[in-house]
Amino acid sequence: MPYNRLGSSGLQVSQFSFGSWVTFGDQVDTGIAKEQLQVAADAGVNFFDNAEVYAGGRSEEIMGEAIRELGWKRHEYVISTKLFWGINGDMVNMQNTLNRKYLMQAIDGSLERLGLDFVDLVYAHRPDPNTPIEETVYAFSDMIEQGKALYWGTSEWSADEIRAAWEIADRRNLRKPVMEQPQYNLLHRNKVEDEFARLYGDIGLGLTTWSPLASGVLTGKYLEGVPEGSRATRKGHGDIVTVAKENEDRVRELVRMAEELDVSTGQLALAWVAANPHVSTVILGASSVAQLEENLGALTALERLTPELKKQLDDLFA
Ligand code: NDP
Repeated sequence: MPYNRLGSSGLQVSQFSFGSWVTFGDQVDTGIAKEQLQVAADAGVNFFDNAEVYAGGRSEEIMGEAIRELGWKRHEYVISTKLFWGINGDMVNMQNTLNRKYLMQAIDGSLERLGLDFVDLVYAHRPDPNTPIEETVYAFSDMIEQGKALYWGTSEWSADEIRAAWEIADRRNLRKPVMEQPQYNLLHRNKVEDEFARLYGDIGLGLTTWSPLASGVLTGKYLEGVPEGSRATRKGHGDIVTVAKENEDRVRELVRMAEELDVSTGQLALAWVAANPHVSTVILGASSVAQLEENLGALTALERLTPELKKQLDDLFA
């Protein structure tokens, strides 16, 4: 497993990492989570992604339980959480916010559910137009000073918002955001390839990218209908079917290219994400152990992805 620096920080993260959205607490219980985490670790994965809001806090509990039962030492893994939506219903100050009160309490809740003294990475899960960026930067910087997190970053922030946060931290001598977590896959490219282009050099931004298979669309699993139990059948994920229909021809071509390369369709799609040098780590998702094993095989696809083939994919999904 190759390891990359998380942007300009000194932290090394595995080329492929593993996250728990939709799956942990819903499709995956502690038993399967344990198996998945161990399969990932055996393949060299060292980063595990989570968020307060996943399964209303249950995803953090499951990851924490699984890691404890596996007996992993704290120095062996990098773990994250993300804060923004809150899990206390519609209580004022506790939802859809990055204000100081929410953030300082939310991190304590996440640490309690994970059963940890600190997370390695903490993210502002979305931007909050109703809180001054300066207040948010102070809160994340303080979390780090208090030893509750080691690095902080953003998720789905605009380039302007990320730069504003970085500049405030720079001026005030606070902890700077080191990473952003954007969606990045063959169907979703603009932020990573265009909008953020200047940030890599200017502020050393690292990327931990999400939904590399566009929720499964890029495995080709939706080409002949909607498989029973797949994510598209779950409440709130109906748009997957629309995306699959809109991109049917391109995904069929992806299937053909993968066959020629003797890798699975999903592996080729994952390798394409990993081939972008600005991507520090590609966060994999999987609802079963078998899916995760298949997806970790994307390293083979990465070895076979020549610049010519990558260009073909760039053009196919332009
Ligand atoms: P993907 O786009 O890779 O989708 C994963 C899903 O696709 C699986 O749960 C499974 O769904 C299906 N799938 C995966 N592999 C296979 C396979 N080999 N064969 C068939 N089906 C497969 O990633 P996610 O959307 O899960 O995102 C990955 C991680 O990124 C999350 O766990 C989370 O940590 C992070 N994330 C962050 C966000 C943010 O806002 N910062 C937002 C979303 C995710 P099924 O079997 O149910 O069909």
